[in-house]
Amino acid sequence: MRTTVVVIGGGYAGLAMSRHLAVCGVGHVVLERGAVAQSWRSLAAAAHPRTG
Ligand SMILES: Cc1cc2nc3c(=O)[nH]c(=O)nc-3n(C[C@H](O)[C@H](O)[C@H](O)COP(=O)(O)OP(=O)(O)OC[C@H]3O[C@@H](n4cnc5c(N)ncnc54)[C@H](O)[C@@H]3O)c2cc1C
Repeated sequence: MRTTVVVIGGGYAGLAMSRHLAVCGVGHVVLERGAVAQSWRSLAAAAHPRTG
């Protein structure tokens, strides 16, 4: 596979950049060392609603 753009990280910034590149027709790959949107998953797991 040949590509001119490599985005490092599939978090907020990486996925937003990937979207813009796709809209502009720029071929690219996103390299993520963990799971896509990994930081959001851990943030969601850390969220504890407080009531009362
Ligand atoms: C407790 C907490 C609560 C938050 N609440 C909010 C909120 O309510 N609203 C809000 O807007 N923001 C919130 N934020 C901030 C928000 O999570 C971050 O600003 C946002 O995730 C940053 O996005 P990013 O793409 O720059 O980095 P990240 O989301 O961290 O993504 C970076 C990605 O790059 C990958 N990566 C890193 N190094 C490499 C490598 N060498 N090779 C391959 N992949 C790599 C990581 O695995 C990761 O998936 C919160 C943050 C914290 C800690």
